[in-house]
Amino acid sequence: MKLPVLEIFGPTIQGEGMVIGRKTMFVRTAGCDYSCSWCDSKFTWDGSEKNAIQMMEPKEIMDVLSEKGGDHFGHVTLSGGNPGLLRQIDELVDLLHDHQIKVALETQGSRWQDWFTKIDDLTLSPKPPSSGMKTNFDTLDFIIESLQQTQAGDFSLKIVIFDQDDLRYATELHQRYPAVTLYLQVGNDETETDNNENLLDHLLGKYELLIDQVMESNVLKDVRVLPQLHTYLWGNKRGV
Ligand code: SF4
Repeated sequence: MKLPVLEIFGPTIQGEGMVIGRKTMFVRTAGCDYSCSWCDSKFTWDGSEKNAIQMMEPKEIMDVLSEKGGDHFGHVTLSGGNPGLLRQIDELVDLLHDHQIKVALETQGSRWQDWFTKIDDLTLSPKPPSSGMKTNFDTLDFIIESLQQTQAGDFSLKIVIFDQDDLRYATELHQRYPAVTLYLQVGNDETETDNNENLLDHLLGKYELLIDQVMESNVLKDVRVLPQLHTYLWGNKRGV
């Protein structure tokens, strides 16, 4: 079954969440059911790159991964857009596992797919108020309960923080799902700039501020505070 693919790149490091720093390849699928105000991958859903979408069989994706990564990788991240929209990714996940390659997924947790239970490193990143999106907590409750019961690998929550309302949202989420590892990540509100030096200063300032705020919280005790690492290294450059 063919999948809509926009980018395949790597090896590089994962810049976010539970496997930050991990050497990985990326497969970026097209399409998202959200339209976050600060989305840094709008090209996956706003139609601007619709001509670049390739419909690919899992075997063809595997071939491109091997062309680009040779035998230098053992981990692939499925990112988007929202790969969680695609029922048919199942086959790709199985194929990667057949090659002893671990699979990570990034999704906002707005849809459930049975193949989530096969993912090795699953990041659920519900979007906070600054995104302009509204979380469906019935769906998110169902996903988290299902993963807790049946997932073979690990999963975690990751919230990108832009302002106080976002931090409040993350705090409430932590209270709702206390057993799920929570990562807080500094939001990049300068997704258009190519001035990497200014961007780095700006983001480091925000990172420090977020750390200070989390230290003051008596609820956010068992959390991890992360930068969006690839932005600090390579700015807003794509495909790294
Ligand atoms: S869910 Fe992710 S890809 Fe979709 S609009 Fe929001 S930030 Fe962008």
